[in-house]
Amino acid sequence: MSQNSKPKKSFLKKVISASQNIQNSNFIPFALPSLGKEEEEAVIKVLRSNWITTGNVTENFEKEFSKKIGSKYAIAVNSATAGLHLALDSFNLKKESFVITSPYTFTSTAEVTRYLNLHPLFVDINEEDYNIDPLLIEKAIKNNKNTSAIIPVHIAGDLCKMKEIMDISNKNNIPVFEDAAHAFPVCEKFPESENMKFAGTFGDAGVFSFYATKTITTGEGGMVVTDNEKIAHHMKMMRLHGIDRDVWDRYNTEENKWYYEVKAPGFKYNLTDIASAIGIEQLKKADIFKQKRTKIADLYNKAFKEYDFITLPPVSESHCWHLYIVRINSAKLKISRDEFIQKLLDKGIGVSVHFIPLHIMPYYKNAYDLKPDDFPRALEKYLTSISLPIYPTLDEEKIEYIIDSVIEIGSDSYQ
Ligand SMILES: *Cc1c(COP(=O)(O)O)cnc(C)c1O
Repeated sequence: MSQNSKPKKSFLKKVISASQNIQNSNFIPFALPSLGKEEEEAVIKVLRSNWITTGNVTENFEKEFSKKIGSKYAIAVNSATAGLHLALDSFNLKKESFVITSPYTFTSTAEVTRYLNLHPLFVDINEEDYNIDPLLIEKAIKNNKNTSAIIPVHIAGDLCKMKEIMDISNKNNIPVFEDAAHAFPVCEKFPESENMKFAGTFGDAGVFSFYATKTITTGEGGMVVTDNEKIAHHMKMMRLHGIDRDVWDRYNTEENKWYYEVKAPGFKYNLTDIASAIGIEQLKKADIFKQKRTKIADLYNKAFKEYDFITLPPVSESHCWHLYIVRINSAKLKISRDEFIQKLLDKGIGVSVHFIPLHIMPYYKNAYDLKPDDFPRALEKYLTSISLPIYPTLDEEKIEYIIDSVIEIGSDSYQ
């Protein structure tokens, strides 16, 4: 916008009053980041260093991240979508082949297949939770000889049945890329190993998101992890224009070298040091954040369990509670799920729905000729689910208010 085309006063007024509304009203937002002095100071330090793009702060973030989850490599990227793209790209999957995933996810998970002339092959979720059903994966592979990969998604932070999925992967020699956008940190102890094993480290690669609403955030950002040196190298190269070395290396060798080589038509997916500085501080707090979300989930579970108009989310020991998804049992109520949502909004509670399944989205529906009933479990969960606020800065008073509101709405419209 040029100097002369300043926005009209009325427009400015509107913007200012809208932002004041957000700050002053008692409305409880659906999601909020948890940022403090530490993040502010870390960002200022990077700004004052004059090195603001990818550099040694990002390298440190990668080191700390891989140390935390026990992966050999961690590659910082500017979104999880970029990370999924890089991971798929690194395997050179057969053109026009099919990548198995569930329709119960965000579009990123499936859209990346299209970047590479691959196709999503949806299979339904489990009856009892929101994650992909391994039995249906096996069936899909039997029925479609042209499957080349599997992308399980740990919905809400609930670990997929990774043992079953990895058995299928090994048996069929098909790589697994975990969409762990919701699943940091999620770890389980497995009998065959001494250590805790983290979501994102079961498959050939795992991808995390640091989008504003996720369990830790850098504004926008993501991380790909793998133990495979070859694909790690490929992803690092493709992250920055297909150039076979990092910016830091390029400008900071002893001889201050200017030479570089482009090995492939790569992408612009690198994460800035400004973002990584926030990430390092968020990483330190990740376990405390998880404890706080788990406590909220416990309070919700305890309060809702005696009401038959609510179905609680699946509970597991390792769950990191990125989302708290309840299901509304409409048969018991005089109101629909959508009306339930409206009543929560009227009470000043921000809620959401996870997810509108991909098979009913115009693009996927039309491109692959899909019907709503093709994935009945995903459809049923979509039609009955509501995601309630769950984040570290949600205080007890607000939690209680949300609980009381849900119970009141349900009880008032009970039939
Ligand atoms: C948020 C999200 C992504 C994408 O993350 P970005 O960092 O925004 O690209 C991918 N998969 C799932 C399941 C998500 O919820």
